[in-house]
Amino acid sequence: MVYADRTAHLKAEGAYAVLAKAQLLEAAGREIIHLEIGQPDFDTFDNISQAGMRAIAGGKTNYTPPEGTRAFRLAIAADASARRGVDIRAEQVVVSPGGKPNIFFPTLALVNPGDEVIYPNPGFPTYEAMIEVAGGIPVPVPLVEENDFSFDLDALDRRMNKKTKMIIINSPSNPTGGIIPESDLEQIAEAARKYDAWVLSDEIYSRIVYDGLCDAPSIYALSDMAERTIIMDGFSKTYAMTGWRLGYGIMPEELAQRVGLLMTHAVGSTAEFTQYAGLEALTGDQGQVDAVVAEYEKRRNAIVDGLNSLPGISCQKPQGAFYVFPNVSGLGKSSDEVANWILEDAGVALLSGTSFGKMGEGYLRLSYANSIENIELAIGKMAEVLG
Ligand code: PLP
Repeated sequence: MVYADRTAHLKAEGAYAVLAKAQLLEAAGREIIHLEIGQPDFDTFDNISQAGMRAIAGGKTNYTPPEGTRAFRLAIAADASARRGVDIRAEQVVVSPGGKPNIFFPTLALVNPGDEVIYPNPGFPTYEAMIEVAGGIPVPVPLVEENDFSFDLDALDRRMNKKTKMIIINSPSNPTGGIIPESDLEQIAEAARKYDAWVLSDEIYSRIVYDGLCDAPSIYALSDMAERTIIMDGFSKTYAMTGWRLGYGIMPEELAQRVGLLMTHAVGSTAEFTQYAGLEALTGDQGQVDAVVAEYEKRRNAIVDGLNSLPGISCQKPQGAFYVFPNVSGLGKSSDEVANWILEDAGVALLSGTSFGKMGEGYLRLSYANSIENIELAIGKMAEVLG
């Protein structure tokens, strides 16, 4: 079989490979603690599920406009405007089945073969995969621990040139949990203006932030950036809705129309009843989001303290998302070896930092979307193995 070149580079996300291996061990009778998967361990909030079920029962099971229903786009625009202190119109919103299509379709709409696209490394693997499907040239910029895993601004400076079409940023970050401070966003914005580049800002974890922060700062809010920024956001993480598949992009109106055309031909529309569930998520009680974030903060503290008590491991305290990215270079093995060793000997499933790119060598990624009891159990098992 001869396949098209544009998919030759695609590979599965590391989390799925580790999950499959962990499940084999479970089938053989081993008990495994799962800290590899990046999804909330809470059920979708009840008011949201009820709204979705009411919508199905009420016959809201049809196609909608490809960009989403008017009422939902209005609600997203109002919520996004209030959270970022900007003025976003409904016409700028494109609803999608999950956040991911709002990485892929804007990239397809903007990047020509041969254009360069800057993206974070370590970073969410979908960025590099989608840049390459679009025929673009992926240009990684390191996220470094010394800089709290923000963006390496000197490296950004060296990599920007006339061919740079887009810069992808992700704050709070998967896999590091790091937040890009406003002063760094200013410099990224300056580089984008100078080279007339777009910015795709993945803000899917923007509400999962700690230490008294409320919302991570957005590059969209900086002066003149609305005209060259795409915000990707969604419901998967904030409202524990991964399987509903519901997300959105916010972008200049003309680009929204183009992305809407790609939606038309590629997916038709997002499910109508899912959009009703999303409307309830945005307009219903937000206290549940705050309660869940407060719970994640306790878990973050527990996992960071636990990891720092282990020999050969040091872990920063990230301010967002539900991941930690401990440095394990002191163990004298590669990240892949350490991840395998901990899975096989301690029964704790986690990811090698290299699942997120070469610059992840020397690190692991652990998701703390799991109970405090399981986190403490996992640390105890790792302590036994690491000695
Ligand atoms: N962006 C980042 C950084 C993520 O971690 C994820 C999911 O893991 C997504 C985007 C995709 O979100 P969705 O499940 O809504 O497509």
